[in-house]
Amino acid sequence: MNVHEHQAKELLSSYGVPVPPGGVAYAPHQAAAAAAELGGERWVVKAQVHAGGRGKAGGVRLAGSVEEVAAIAANLLGSRLVTAQTGPDGALVGRVLVEPAVGIARELYLGLVVDRGPQRPVLLGSTSGGVDVEGAGGLVRETIDPALGLQDFQCRKVAAALGLSGPQLRPAVALMRALYRCFEETDALQIEVNPLAVTDDGALLALDAKVSFDDNALFRRAEVGGLRDLDEEDPKETDASQHGLNYIALDGDVGCIVNGAGLAMATMDAITLHGARPANFLDVGGGASPEKVANAFRIVLTDPNVKTILVNIFAGINRCDWIAEGIVEASRAQEIDVPVVARLAGTNVEEGRRILAESGLALTTADNLDDAAAAAVASLNGARA
Ligand code: GDP
Ligand code: MN
Repeated sequence: MNVHEHQAKELLSSYGVPVPPGGVAYAPHQAAAAAAELGGERWVVKAQVHAGGRGKAGGVRLAGSVEEVAAIAANLLGSRLVTAQTGPDGALVGRVLVEPAVGIARELYLGLVVDRGPQRPVLLGSTSGGVDVEGAGGLVRETIDPALGLQDFQCRKVAAALGLSGPQLRPAVALMRALYRCFEETDALQIEVNPLAVTDDGALLALDAKVSFDDNALFRRAEVGGLRDLDEEDPKETDASQHGLNYIALDGDVGCIVNGAGLAMATMDAITLHGARPANFLDVGGGASPEKVANAFRIVLTDPNVKTILVNIFAGINRCDWIAEGIVEASRAQEIDVPVVARLAGTNVEEGRRILAESGLALTTADNLDDAAAAAVASLNGARA
């Protein structure tokens, strides 16, 4: 789960990371009021979207008056910001962050990520922070032993590599320790401060912050879950997660309803092998009730790209009769206007097949994955013709 810059800054600030003061605005007059309240003569107005690359895309702008703050906010709010990280449709700007502009002497980069190789967190630092960091080299890295935590000597090493010494050393070490404490206590997967600014008067200030959290740990981090902005997520994925379904939207046209993540992946491979592309990944999980299966159908059908649906169930914990009942329930709740291919195997398969046969639904059934994928792709070609 990702959060907005202003939320990341509030969180980091609560751990002692220095960030600029700021105000969030959902309308131009609120942006003007925030600027007036912050005081000063120059402000930055920053589009809040869950994507980086805003600076280069015109999503971070300097204003020299309160009126200009309002004008920039009016321009950004409600627009779609297209950055190198958003894809061609961009991201809708629903809020902006207003901060007093800071005079920047140097832009540095600090990051904490989980390194999957050594399976440990790693602290990253670079002297070339700012909008071009992706292309820059010169990264220093300190691998952290999670049992010991980030050590002072490691912070001092990174600080030295960033050219932070003398009176900047202590604040730099404190900042890195605060970042790590936040990383650990919120089950973050990644924290990125870019730029970490050295201001004109020599202070360290996190001018941008991106934090993403481990979804699987949200159950024990209620305060983190509260930061979720559903507007930034695919509504189908939100809907699915609220019904205990593991769904990821893709851009093909074969809707998939499968039990088990591995089988879902294999099903997507089989579809691809037969020359089509999956519209989604969907794992209904074990012990799926008819209601859950009906919800899976409903969510898959809200995707306008879906031209056919492939149901692939290998029931161990699941029961084919419940899956079949779910399919029937889904067809009662709404018209299923695309072909459906169902492959059921395992627990109560006879009962499941009987329910489908007696339902009068026009389904194609298949006995194995390969036949099912072939039938789904064939129905797709029929539907297109
Ligand atoms: P990103 O492009 O999405 O990563 O957005 P950032 O928040 O990193 O902003 C992009 C760039 O805008 C930064 O690298 C800075 O150069 C500049 N910027 C951001 N805040 C300020 C500020 O307060 N003062 C000045 N002068 N520049 C800023
Ligand atoms: Mn940035």
